[in-house]
Amino acid sequence: MDYLMLVNKTNGLGKYYIPNNLVKVKIKTGGGKKIYLEKKTYKQIKKLLKDINKEFMTEIVIDSGYRPYLYQENLLKDLLQEKQEEAYNSLAKPGYSEHQTGLAVDIGFYKDGHYVPKFKNEDFAKEFLWLKDNAYKYGFIVRYPSDKTAITGYIYEPWHLRYVGNIAELLTKENLTLEEYYEKYLQD
Ligand SMILES: [Zn+2]
Repeated sequence: MDYLMLVNKTNGLGKYYIPNNLVKVKIKTGGGKKIYLEKKTYKQIKKLLKDINKEFMTEIVIDSGYRPYLYQENLLKDLLQEKQEEAYNSLAKPGYSEHQTGLAVDIGFYKDGHYVPKFKNEDFAKEFLWLKDNAYKYGFIVRYPSDKTAITGYIYEPWHLRYVGNIAELLTKENLTLEEYYEKYLQD
């Protein structure tokens, strides 16, 4: 498994890419959804959620993980009906979603018995700050930060975490997106 796999609006995976080590999420999920993640990603997000929930007495859960090509296609169709062109700012073209790697995790939270699918900065400022500072210890980065929208091509998504493994520490300390990391370190 290539944990540094770069998927964005210009680097797609195509119709047929399916990660070969997906596992079913067995802990509580947002709305009881059936979710699959890459094996190591799942192991690490479980640890992260356990720690953040203990720290803040919250119930933050996995909202979304692996999204197959067909699912992405339907999601976009729905959103296009609702929002038209604007949909492309918040959703990838089918085959270009990082969720197809199995390495991306969206999180949401239960509050007073209600489920809120998007983990927003305003609602949970302390928790988000913790994530920004600590996610790397589990191998994750906040993939679409507010100050990097021009580089990532995505609006600020504090709820979208991406597993990258050990390199997460470097990315966090140098404040680099995955795109910037490729440019700085992986180009000839
Ligand atoms: Zn996401």
